[in-house]
Amino acid sequence: MNSSVSTQRFLARTLAAPESPTSLTETLADGTRLTLLDAGVLRISPTQPGSHRALISCGVHGNETAPMEIVDQLVSDIFNGQLKVNNELMFVIGNPPAAIAEQRFVEENLNRLFSGKHRHSTAKEAARAARLEALTEAFFLDGDEPRLHYDLHTAIRGSYIEKFAVYPYLHSRTWSESQFGFLEQAGIEAVLLSNQPSGTYSYFSSHEFGADAFTIELGKVRKFGDNDMRRFAQMTESLRRVVDGTERFVARRQAIKIFAVVEEVIKRSENFKLHIPDEAKNFTEYDAGALLASDDDYEYRTQRDGERFVFPITNVPPGQRAMLVVAPVTDLTELTEA
Ligand SMILES: [Zn+2]
Repeated sequence: MNSSVSTQRFLARTLAAPESPTSLTETLADGTRLTLLDAGVLRISPTQPGSHRALISCGVHGNETAPMEIVDQLVSDIFNGQLKVNNELMFVIGNPPAAIAEQRFVEENLNRLFSGKHRHSTAKEAARAARLEALTEAFFLDGDEPRLHYDLHTAIRGSYIEKFAVYPYLHSRTWSESQFGFLEQAGIEAVLLSNQPSGTYSYFSSHEFGADAFTIELGKVRKFGDNDMRRFAQMTESLRRVVDGTERFVARRQAIKIFAVVEEVIKRSENFKLHIPDEAKNFTEYDAGALLASDDDYEYRTQRDGERFVFPITNVPPGQRAMLVVAPVTDLTELTEA
């Protein structure tokens, strides 16, 4: 294996050696410093302090290839000098062994294991979650610039809203209007506001380090090579502006839709059932009273017109989330008192 960081593409290198920890440092011609901290974890420091400290992650689910190709292209353009770095950056390919296997995960969903939840698991992904937590902490605490984390995903099923972001639960903090504007400019059509803590990577960055952090869904899962990268051009362009420091976060929210999570449906037992068709798309809309899920001593019926489901999945262990139910928000100030 070549000892230089920049002579091999980031994604190819990561998939060629998915579990061997490596620590390699290299300086580009313009003084930008690259450090490969672990398989799929690359820190990049500009020569001058920037305005932000940005974590851009992908492949937390191994079969979600388009985000990995977006990140690979950004890193490649940094290596070859086409994209100048003016902010502190960390790029993460979350679950390389799962990416090689072309699976969502090898033993357990990595995006349920952050914020210490890995301590209750012996899955391969638990060790990776602990390692990513440590590297993420070191990155964010290394300076006091405003912190950003964009965790890029694609979804298993089709969706009435193709591109959307999940805003982690903020506890006493409030939503960032400038981030709504940024996401809209990046082609994101809707934002879901979470109503409780979770084990996601974005919640970890948000809660532990006060980062403006989002899980970003960019469309449907496809295999490597089958992605039409033009579909991701707006997001890619926006991330390039984060890298080169030209993004000022001054765009205003205009048409982006906002939804609040009204119910997190948990699978309680093996008798859990979803009452929606297999092929139904995310954001399918219902009138009040529709039965969406049932279990021993539990059922979820929509409480009011306009509720929609997102991320339905029955193939999870009892105790895990099987679906989110969301409802449109017309006035954010109505929520802030909640
Ligand atoms: Zn995902």
